[in-house]
Amino acid sequence: MQEYLAQLNEAQREAVLQKDGPMIVIAGAGSGKTRVLTFRIAYLMDQGVDPFNILALTFTNKAAREMKARIASIVGNSEAKNLWMGTFHSVFAKILRFEGDKLGFPSNFTIYDTQDSQRLLRNIIKDLQLDKDVYKYKQVQSRISSYKNSLITVKAYQRDPELQEADAMAKRPRMGEIYKQYVDRCFKAGAMDFDDLLLRTNELLTRFPEVLAKYQNRFKYILVDEYQDTNHSQYLIVRALSDRFQNICVVGDDAQSIYAFRGANINNILNFQNDYSDVKKFRLEQNYRSTKNIVEAANSIIEKNKTRLDKVVWTANDEGPKIHVNRLINDAEEGRFVASSIFENRMQQGMKNSDFAILYRTNAQSRAMEDALRKKEIPYRIFGGLSFYQRKEIKDVLSYLRLIVNPKDEEAFVRVVNYPARGIGQTTMDKLNLAANHYKRSLFEIVEHIDKLNLGINRGTQTKLTNFVNMLKSFQVSAKTQDAFQLAELVVKKTGLIQEFKKDGTPEGIARLENIEELLNGIQDFVEGQKELADAEGSLAEFLEDVALATDLDNEKGDDDRVALMTIHLAKGLEFPFVYIVGLEEDLFPSAMSMNTRSELEEERRLFYVALTRAEKQAYLTYVISRYRWGKLNDAEPSRFIEEIDDQFLDFMIPEDNYQFRSFLNPDIFDDEDKSKLRKEKPKQGTPPPSKNEEKTTRRLRKVKPENNLDVSDQKEIISLAEGQKVEHQRFGKGTVVELSGVGQNKKANINFESGGVKSLLLKFAKLKIL
Ligand code: ATP
Ligand code: MG
Repeated sequence: MQEYLAQLNEAQREAVLQKDGPMIVIAGAGSGKTRVLTFRIAYLMDQGVDPFNILALTFTNKAAREMKARIASIVGNSEAKNLWMGTFHSVFAKILRFEGDKLGFPSNFTIYDTQDSQRLLRNIIKDLQLDKDVYKYKQVQSRISSYKNSLITVKAYQRDPELQEADAMAKRPRMGEIYKQYVDRCFKAGAMDFDDLLLRTNELLTRFPEVLAKYQNRFKYILVDEYQDTNHSQYLIVRALSDRFQNICVVGDDAQSIYAFRGANINNILNFQNDYSDVKKFRLEQNYRSTKNIVEAANSIIEKNKTRLDKVVWTANDEGPKIHVNRLINDAEEGRFVASSIFENRMQQGMKNSDFAILYRTNAQSRAMEDALRKKEIPYRIFGGLSFYQRKEIKDVLSYLRLIVNPKDEEAFVRVVNYPARGIGQTTMDKLNLAANHYKRSLFEIVEHIDKLNLGINRGTQTKLTNFVNMLKSFQVSAKTQDAFQLAELVVKKTGLIQEFKKDGTPEGIARLENIEELLNGIQDFVEGQKELADAEGSLAEFLEDVALATDLDNEKGDDDRVALMTIHLAKGLEFPFVYIVGLEEDLFPSAMSMNTRSELEEERRLFYVALTRAEKQAYLTYVISRYRWGKLNDAEPSRFIEEIDDQFLDFMIPEDNYQFRSFLNPDIFDDEDKSKLRKEKPKQGTPPPSKNEEKTTRRLRKVKPENNLDVSDQKEIISLAEGQKVEHQRFGKGTVVELSGVGQNKKANINFESGGVKSLLLKFAKLKIL
């Protein structure tokens, strides 16, 4: 047996060795689904399958890169580079570059990100003179997105009275018109939005049988990770491509389906067996990621869902510490608690910053966490939210670059035609837009012919517009001989963008300048990286595609030692030794918007299951007593999800400085020492009375010894500690004290451990035994 196959358990190995035919692995979190997928690809290559014939679809491009690296290390050569691997969007964007001309798209089509789509929709809503409070552009956008993901084209919409009726009922009877304009204007601009990448691929595969046949033959083996979160459009693509060889392997976990709100269809996994004949089914039951406490707590939660497949998940790992539940006064306290706990764990257990993740339900919760981490000087990185590439100054530079590649790109054109200021006003733009719609041409083309069209724009302004277009054309000429980095450098200088920020001189201006520098560094990095690849040239078009499809996780630099902050949705598939799930309150998590139906609530519960199962060693749950929502301070109730976890897996922590809040808890649950403390304390003025869930949850409070406090014997040992002393640490084993520093609470020791080398430990926390 090959050496790598020995790194799998029996069930995993069986799944890896099942080379041909349709197969599905449905298994719980941390059971090695992704590992099976990775090893299976290595095995296929081992069996002589050409990597060019293997297509693997992952949840992020980062996951794909890591998988490729792993496969390369297993197969021991550079062949893994030739695998077709990435997200649905990035793989099919590539295919559309080759084939899109059949659908009338140029090979240099632009990919509109969500911001671009929303800006365009805002303009369309304005042009149609619709009420922007009724036609909210974000809602309109998500509606259009859902049509596209269900493969409802404009024509299909126009033929479907039921759909039109539904929109009319939602007080948006003119959705059809907006949809049509939106699609037309994207087409005219040579642009596809994210959903188009899937919709147009479907169109391509249905309308052109020879194209379908070509890719069916190319992708002899298809593998899909996180299959539970594929939407209808993705499902159809996979189905069509795998139809000929039927070598399709999907892995997923129905209990982790969390994207229904974006059109993911859990039935794709449930019905897989009906879609193909003779499907082989594999179960993986052993979790390798988490402690017993975490695995069993997660099981006890997901059991509450009615709609689910029966699965066993167990682990041979240590029992580990219980899950800590912490109750804080408000979000600032919550932040402080999390930051201190990370600080302590890092010291006490010798962990890195990147061993910690803070997960939340909504992006807005990151602020309080950030404030606290900054105060404690703990480096962190936020994933999601506004990505680097969406910052204004970056988007401005990128817009110029986009126009070089695709001058028809309407959103990019509108963005920078008057930035830096060139004296081209809104009235002029309105006239250009009118003409563009009338002649069904792009803005760029209209300006190219402006002297022949009578648009009522004065000579001076016409010249300014022509100069702008000529500048873009001169960039295009440079693009023939220069790589992406050289071009970007040229653009920021020639357009006057750099001068603009230099002139500014404010701290914000300087920060923007630094961001642009960072962008240029990024482009340089990209160019260098691409040059190593056989099928890439480091062109601007390649860079822009990378940027458009980069999820935030993709921007992570591997050597970055920072605490990760992200929404739970983004954390799918990842793992961290320590995980803090914050804001566990009713109406926040579960979200107030997801409690109308059982299926919505069950999705929230699955989300909680995903969050908890990211933790390897220890999980912390926090909730607050009151929280600002929409600018108002509201009483908060602990989340039902805390209540739902079996008691035996939880420790309800009462940090010392929270004693004052015990006053309104049921005194009977405390021991005598506690009660004597309680008697001394008066209820704090203005403290809200306990709510119903609060009472339920706090009733379960048990007296726990605050985790990081030393008992008296520990103290004695610290005092007697000297350099040269032999000691034993519960995690790092035996070692010798090489240096002592600091005083009192800050006393530190550098200890040279027999295995693991020198570590610096804060004595307040480190539990050392003197030998
Ligand atoms: P999720 O549902 O969260 O995506 P998963 O089922 O994809 O989880 P993996 O990420 O593949 O699980 O595996 C979880 C962890 O367990 C990883 O760190 C992986 O390396 C490890 N692991 C999986 N199988 C084994 C094994 N047989 N021996 C040792 N470690 C394993
Ligand atoms: Mg996985």
